[in-house]
Amino acid sequence: MGMRCDWRCPHCATTTEPVSGGHDRGFHAATQTRLCLTCKTVQDLEIGVMSDPSHRIFTPEESRARANPDPVCGTCSGRTVPWDRSCPSCGTPMERGEHMEFWD
Ligand SMILES: [Zn+2]
Ligand SMILES: [Zn+2]
Repeated sequence: MGMRCDWRCPHCATTTEPVSGGHDRGFHAATQTRLCLTCKTVQDLEIGVMSDPSHRIFTPEESRARANPDPVCGTCSGRTVPWDRSCPSCGTPMERGEHMEFWD
């Protein structure tokens, strides 16, 4: 099970969608929080899959073959980089918000 929360910039009050803030892992997929260089959106993107739709767990070889270490932005298909938890607007380290949700 993974957990996400929203992040808030203490300097300019920019907030993110609920994201895990780093590597996370649900039952079906491995995700990483990444920043889009084009539209500056912070989002959790799938970097790997652990099971097929019938919930059969992949072997390590199969998961490697399906790994997606360089996912593109879900909004604009732009290039993304791992998010360092800094504000996309001003670069200030963001703080974890109060809102939390569980996924998967
Ligand atoms: Zn900011
Ligand atoms: Zn984008």
